[in-house]
Amino acid sequence: MKIAIVGYGNLGRGVETALLQQPDMEAVGVFTRRDPASLTSQIPAYALKDLPQHEVDVAILCGGSATDLIEQSPDIVRHCNIVDSFDTHARIPEHFAHVDAAAKESDHAALISTGWDPGLFSLMRILGLAVLPNGSVDTFWGKGVSQGHSDAIRRIPGVVKAVQYTIPREEAVARVEQGQGEGLTARDKHLRECFVVAGSEADQEAIRHTIVTMPNYFADYDTEVHFIDEATFDANHTAMPHGGQVIRHGHTSEGTPQVMKFSLDLASNPEFTASVNVACARALYRAYQEGRRGCMTIFDLPLAYLLPISAEELRANWL
Ligand code: NDP
Repeated sequence: MKIAIVGYGNLGRGVETALLQQPDMEAVGVFTRRDPASLTSQIPAYALKDLPQHEVDVAILCGGSATDLIEQSPDIVRHCNIVDSFDTHARIPEHFAHVDAAAKESDHAALISTGWDPGLFSLMRILGLAVLPNGSVDTFWGKGVSQGHSDAIRRIPGVVKAVQYTIPREEAVARVEQGQGEGLTARDKHLRECFVVAGSEADQEAIRHTIVTMPNYFADYDTEVHFIDEATFDANHTAMPHGGQVIRHGHTSEGTPQVMKFSLDLASNPEFTASVNVACARALYRAYQEGRRGCMTIFDLPLAYLLPISAEELRANWL
């Protein structure tokens, strides 16, 4: 199948790496809003506006959720099938409706909001709900880099470089595993640790205060701020690890607790997310070939479609 990459940031580079390892996929190119000659991609780069001139089975959209995908997904699905990793949970129903209408009008298929969360974690949350309806689910993230929180710190005047790690609190994880997670607050579940390079030592106290009191990002958490020099930052804080776990605790009968857990420990968030998206592109294209149209989520695709392996082989070796 012919796959296009739309947008060449962290995720776009990860998709390129993943695509080049697939036996059944051909990389058509990277499509960007910037000057294609400015990219350092291994596969050919083209202007995004030229995408309709290429034969593409699925475009994997790698733009940001904040502003790119809201516009790009309904637009690009008019030309070809698409996969995106839109992760603004509160706006998924709205995004789905827009993409669904555009996909149906143009006779295409779309898979939105895939990756690991939303994505694989979402699958685990509904598996838990189906198997243990009498229970509760909790998601812990980290230890890992939150791009959104890191960006928020970088916007503070006087900050040169910054990274924010989200860290799950072990005591909260233990309570959830024992079925005693009720009432845990955001502060109880995660700690936020920030490493900041400040332009001047004199700014440090003001920067620390702005971070720990920042509404929506840090005010509801215990936040540690460490000031470090640029060389230490470059040596220790430029990777993008992440991960986390989904824990479902429930009872199948009184006095019979059951725990389901799914965890990820990722050295590179974008490379892992990209690997999920590439497998999902395969699944979406198989659904499209069977006549499915409109927008879908990972809940709507058969798991067997994720692999380039026959159903017979799956039954023989993987059950
Ligand atoms: P980036 O900020 O690296 O890239 C987003 C877009 O910005 C790119 O597609 C690119 O578009 C443009 N861009 C990238 N680098 C530059 C640059 N140097 N100068 C100007 N423009 C640039 O975002 P990520 O790749 O890290 O993440 C993309 C999205 O993936 C996130 O917003 C998040 O929503 C989602 N995500 C989802 C996950 C999940 O589990 N569901 C997990 C991780 C991420 P162009 O080439 O057209 O300029």
